[in-house]
Order: sequence, then structure tokens, then C-alpha cells
Amino acid sequence: MQSRPALVVIVGTGGTIAGTSAQPERHVGYQAGVLGVDQLVAAVPALQGQALEAQTLARLDSCDMDHATWQALREAVARQLARPEVAGVVVTHGTDTLEETAYFLHRTLAAPKPVVLTAAMRPASAPSADGPQNLLDAVALARYPGARGVVAMLGGQVLGAVDLRKLHGYRVEAFSAGDAGPLALMEDGVLRSFRPWPAAPLHAADPSAGPVSAWPVVEIVTSHAGARAATLDALVAAGAAGLVIAGTGNGSVHHTLLAAAARAQGAGVRVVRASRCLQGGVVGTPAGALPSYGPLTPAQARVELMLDLLAAAPPA
Ligand code: ASP
Repeated sequence: MQSRPALVVIVGTGGTIAGTSAQPERHVGYQAGVLGVDQLVAAVPALQGQALEAQTLARLDSCDMDHATWQALREAVARQLARPEVAGVVVTHGTDTLEETAYFLHRTLAAPKPVVLTAAMRPASAPSADGPQNLLDAVALARYPGARGVVAMLGGQVLGAVDLRKLHGYRVEAFSAGDAGPLALMEDGVLRSFRPWPAAPLHAADPSAGPVSAWPVVEIVTSHAGARAATLDALVAAGAAGLVIAGTGNGSVHHTLLAAAARAQGAGVRVVRASRCLQGGVVGTPAGALPSYGPLTPAQARVELMLDLLAAAPPA
């Protein structure tokens, strides 16, 4: 019988997990993305001697995540997954845009093996850094028999890419999978599984077909008290091909933005709505309402709309 490969490749993109501070006792005011993946691995005694390869792809604070890094990350992970000796891939990342990167990879990367994103809320230099345990759990998950798909490993919880939400700006327990709950828990290196691994159909768009400069421009506008149509009009004038309106409640949109959205649609711009609520999404599409992607957050809806537009008009 062929034995399961044990090699896990860790691809680093930066984030707090790789951050350091001149004042270790402080949890804010540090610099993200300072350390390379080798240094993160070296800080975890239990990872020494394991079959691991490390690649530092970027050293970003993930609030600065960009499409070029997404494209490079997707290609790097795909290359590693194609190696028969690789059991799975771990991606270290900042928490701020984790749900966007996870969703992008989930929709565009065939992942018959696990692709485990992990992160930390406290820099590596903090006395109670959460990164080392998250990295250890992520590596264990990446070689777990039967695991597959793009997931996040945070605080012992395995969260699906579609369900992932960052709900808190400071606490270590910053993430949730909302109504869906975690896919599984990692307890002392043993996985307690609740639901099947994610296996969504891939999006038809090919993000590697051309340069990222050819990706359609999709912007997010928030609906709020006193919202101004001029904001939305300006984005259209600046070349937006798609707009996501982060609506209030169940995706309701200020009437001034609705009027501007109708003008945008008339000019050929795709407009969808989402909900700015931290949990849930948009339920139903009453007659005349703007379309939505249901449960997707505004940031995820932006990715989905960008992929829809890219599939409709691939780069020549
Ligand atoms: N700003 C940091 C980043 O997202 C925060 C973190 O990593 O948690 O890279």
C-alpha cells in the first residue's frame, strides 16, 4: 500500500504571525511581516525534525494585500499541491484580509489536498504569542488523512473559507464561522470533525490568464445614514466595472445610492448588494432589489463579482 506523503510546505506572506515589536509586552504598534517562514518554524520546538519546506513569498501586513500577491500565491500553492510528495500546504497570513485571500483561493484553486491558512493576533515577539500553536495545528491539519480544500486553522478551530469572518480587531479569539460553525476542532493534534471538507465548484474565471492589471475593477461602497450618490458616481467615473454595496441589515440600500446604482447599471456597471452586518448575509431578492451573493461578506462579494466579470471578458 502506498503511504501518505508527510511533507508539508509552508508559504509565508507576512502578517502579525511574522511580526515583531520593540516592546514585546505591547500587542499594538508592532511591525507585521518581519520574520521569514524559517524563523517561524524555528520558534516551534515540536516542528523540529518534521518533514517541512518553507517559502517566504511576501512579508506584507495583510491590510496591504494586493492582487499580484494573490496571483503569485495561487500559482505557488498550485505548484506545491501538484508535487506527489507534498501532503498539503500551509499559508501564513495576516488576519486582516484572511477571509478575502481564503475565499479567492477557495474559488480559483483546485485543492484535492489541504490548503491551510493560519495567522495570529499577537506578534511573534509577544510573551503569549498565538502564532506558534496555530502554526503547529495548521501543519498537523495539512497532513491529516482525508483533509482537503481551502480552510483556516485558528485557535484550534478549522473554519471553511466561505464561512470565515474576522469579528474582532484585538482579541485572540477574533474569528468565527458564523451560522455554519467550525468544520472541525484540532485538539492536541487530534482532529474532531463535524462536517465534510469543503468542495465547492471552482469559478470559471482563470486569474492566471493575464496580468492582474487586466482584472476588472470592483469597488465596495457602504450604505449609511447620509450616504451620498456622488461617492458611487465617482467610482463609476474612475473606471469601476463592478460595485458591491455593503448595505444595512438584510442588504437594504440608501435611496440616494439606489438612484446612483441605477445610473451605474445603465452605464453597464454590474452592481450587487451585500450586508455590512458582521454575521449573516442577504436573504431573498424582492422584486426590483439589486442582486446579491447571499451569505458572502462585502469583501468576499467583491472577489466573486471580480471573478464573474473576468470570466465574462477574459483578457485577450
Ligand atoms: N495588520 C495585520 C495583518 O493583517 C494584522 C494581523 O496580521 O493580524 O497583517
